[in-house]
Amino acid sequence: MSDALIVAIDGPSGVGKTTASRLVARELNIPHIDTGAMYRAIGVAALREGISVHDAAALEELTGRTRIEFLPGERPRVILNGEDITGMIRTPEISMAASHVSAVPAVRRALVRLQQAMGRAGGGVLEGRDIGTKVFPETPHKFFLTATPKVRADRRYRELLAKGQNIPFETVLAEASQRDEQDSSRADSPLTYDETYTVIDTSELSITEVVQWIVDEVRSGR
Ligand code: C5P
Repeated sequence: MSDALIVAIDGPSGVGKTTASRLVARELNIPHIDTGAMYRAIGVAALREGISVHDAAALEELTGRTRIEFLPGERPRVILNGEDITGMIRTPEISMAASHVSAVPAVRRALVRLQQAMGRAGGGVLEGRDIGTKVFPETPHKFFLTATPKVRADRRYRELLAKGQNIPFETVLAEASQRDEQDSSRADSPLTYDETYTVIDTSELSITEVVQWIVDEVRSGR
């Protein structure tokens, strides 16, 4: 066991995890590690090679020969076999591919190992779906963010619009619901939480309030 400070922030898509995690990390002066970006990178690799996101054996083989690096910082970067793919991982197509490949145990094993090594080396605010249940179950700092499906789809819709992707709200809502259903019902490391988590419903909270809540709890050691 290392003494590195690990803060786990789990929850479904569109709940504000990324913004909250980045600000909490900045406040606590530790790296922000976006684990979803790593699953997205495997999704990109699979699509590029024409590998089906449902072919577990091919995905295992692909993961074995794929090098993924995550470089935390003010502008975090995701590197796939030496190539910076950060700009291409946030599309609905890659979101869905990431959700499919993340159900494959061999893919999860490889990425969880990478996440554990990064966290042990320098601590971090890790955001994902299984950080407090599987990646760092021993950390006392676990938060599960929730919000109503409509609020989450609305946030995702605005985020995509800001990036110039004008996707109908209904499509965004349907995609988010399908992905959450897949992430929650898979056999390996489903999206879930237990009594060791602090659950924060962000529907009616500002991002500042969410960040303050998390930072206060971490600092007070609760
Ligand atoms: O968080 P983000 O939306 O970028 O994650 C993309 C997908 O990666 C999720 O829908 C989920 O299927 C998968 N994921 C996961 N475990 C994590 C982080 C993400 O299964 N720790």
